Amino acid sequence: MAEMNGNFCVKCEEKKVIQTEKMLKCNGNCNKGLHYTCSSYNTSELQFLESNKNNIKWFCDGCSQSNTTVRVSQ
Ligand SMILES: [Zn+2]
Ligand SMILES: [Zn+2]
Repeated sequence: MAEMNGNFCVKCEEKKVIQTEKMLKCNGNCNKGLHYTCSSYNTSELQFLESNKNNIKWFCDGCSQSNTTVRVSQ
């Protein structure tokens, strides 16, 4: 059985598993994450995410797009 560790960075798109590298874990179905260094968040935003990671659901671009309800008014 394949083991999904969720260490796949959506930005690098490589299994660049760097143990010391902190990652945001996607709460979507992709089982991926994003290295802090690959994100466009600044230091204070990352500190906020880090200290609230149990309360914040972070989604990668792909999942946030599929999760976002796009309201098209017609
Ligand atoms: Zn990365
Ligand atoms: Zn995702």
